[in-house]
Amino acid sequence: CGIIGIVGREPVAGHLVDALKRLEYRGYDSAGLATLETGGVLTRRRAEGKLRNLEIRLAKEPLEGVIGIGHTRWATHGAPTEANAHPHATKRVAVVHNGIIENFRELKDELIAAGHHFESETDTEVVAQLVDRKMELGMSPADAVAAALKRLTGAFALAFLFSGEEDLLIGARRGSPLAVGWGTGEMFLGSDAIALAPFTDRVAYLEEGDWVVVTRAGAVIHDETDAIVQRPIVTVSAAA
Ligand code: GLU
Repeated sequence: CGIIGIVGREPVAGHLVDALKRLEYRGYDSAGLATLETGGVLTRRRAEGKLRNLEIRLAKEPLEGVIGIGHTRWATHGAPTEANAHPHATKRVAVVHNGIIENFRELKDELIAAGHHFESETDTEVVAQLVDRKMELGMSPADAVAAALKRLTGAFALAFLFSGEEDLLIGARRGSPLAVGWGTGEMFLGSDAIALAPFTDRVAYLEEGDWVVVTRAGAVIHDETDAIVQRPIVTVSAAA
């Protein structure tokens, strides 16, 4: 339902939760974060119910990473439990997702036949497992996401974080909005400019079918044919 991603300069967990609070107006039933901890280890904290529950979890088990993704979930496939809360992850990749993957059943059957094990009831987990599969076969994170996107049907926005990749987030948009934000030595992904407002007012909105490689140095946006494209960077008003 709500997506935030930060490639930052200081621990991001608190900022991710703050951004998710700004997306609360959309409604949600559970929430979660993934960051890269010491040694680039992909680490998650998730909780059912209100963001307050996630904050309590984070107070007990803090995250220190300077890169991460966060999500508030409005369940469409699978009950609103911690196991179904986003991010969904394998050892290589974590993903947060807004929307629905229409062909998840077919992809899930294919991945199970290939030896993948699923731990949630969501449509979203197939995206993590599909990208994991491509990376297992030797693809880079960007190539794996580009290949996986071609297999997905439905309406979605996605943000990915990769194990050991301290300067990389990837976002994708098809049918659900996603914005890229430019900070000072920091970059952001968000499901709308409101989520990004505390951090930056310089944003580019992905267009239908776009996907984006985000590093601290900036963003490279690709269209649905994988060609590099420029999208206008606009300054959103503080009231946004
Ligand atoms: N379809 C996904 C799920 O049920 C994402 C829902 C959302 O947009 O929050 O987990």
